[in-house]
Amino acid sequence: LATVRVPVLKQHDELSELSLLFNDMLDRMQRYIEQQQQFVEDVSHELRTPVAIIQGHLDLLNRWGKDDPEVLAESIAASLQEIKRMKSLVQEMLDLSRAEQVEIQFGQEKTDAREVGLQVFNNFQMIHPEFSFVLDNDLKHKTIVKMYRNHLEQVLIILMDNAVKYSQERKEVHMTISKNSRYVEIVVQDFGEGISQDNLDKVFNRFYRVDKARSRDKGGNGLGLSIARRLIEGYHGKLSVESVIGQGSVFRISLPLSSEQEESQTIKDTEK
Ligand code: ADP
Repeated sequence: LATVRVPVLKQHDELSELSLLFNDMLDRMQRYIEQQQQFVEDVSHELRTPVAIIQGHLDLLNRWGKDDPEVLAESIAASLQEIKRMKSLVQEMLDLSRAEQVEIQFGQEKTDAREVGLQVFNNFQMIHPEFSFVLDNDLKHKTIVKMYRNHLEQVLIILMDNAVKYSQERKEVHMTISKNSRYVEIVVQDFGEGISQDNLDKVFNRFYRVDKARSRDKGGNGLGLSIARRLIEGYHGKLSVESVIGQGSVFRISLPLSSEQEESQTIKDTEK
């Protein structure tokens, strides 16, 4: 693409403006192509490991495992595990690619962010009885954002899931829900292993994992946070992180409130 760039003209007229615009467009296309190439490379890399593991097990069975019920059972279980991993990888890649399409439907559905937060919180409390979950929720009313409910739920699950995955010692996760005049904020905090300053920006990159082996062991593939950020930004929100290694991490979602708040509708005490 570099070869079709047009020379930048010195005069300040429409033609030179057009040539700048044209070159800028080429640069963007170039960047887009590079990103796509990188994506294909990353995906191939990620799929190679499970494929190699399955191949290894089939080889093993082929050579002597067929008659040994123990080897047979083990290889089948390991292969199924890898296939499960590939399936979820492919699903997440689809999610990501959908989220990256310019025309993605960032739906204008009215969603009660407070209610979604509480629901995800309760679900995690149920699934992980070994953890202590602490909720700090100031909001008594519906808190409407304009986004697909599923998208917000997906982001919260990614953050809560990570908080649990990366907390070995102190098994405690806090969720805080609050708002100001323009934004609703949902914060997920853990007291786990934390992320070093060097890695802090990179965790939102696709396939980036601080510790590949460890994340893989926990079923991770490094796509969760990139999907989460893409979704939140698609709704003009922000997803940020602060973390101290060895002390834990704080992930903060902030989403613009819809102008159509239904303040009058008080939530029943039992639902709080
Ligand atoms: P993964 O599937 O590996 O969890 P993510 O995109 O969700 O992928 O996260 C990328 C990486 O960021 C993880 O592999 C992990 O190293 C780091 N990370 C994410 N959340 C946390 C957390 N709450 N505490 C510590 N590290 C985290």
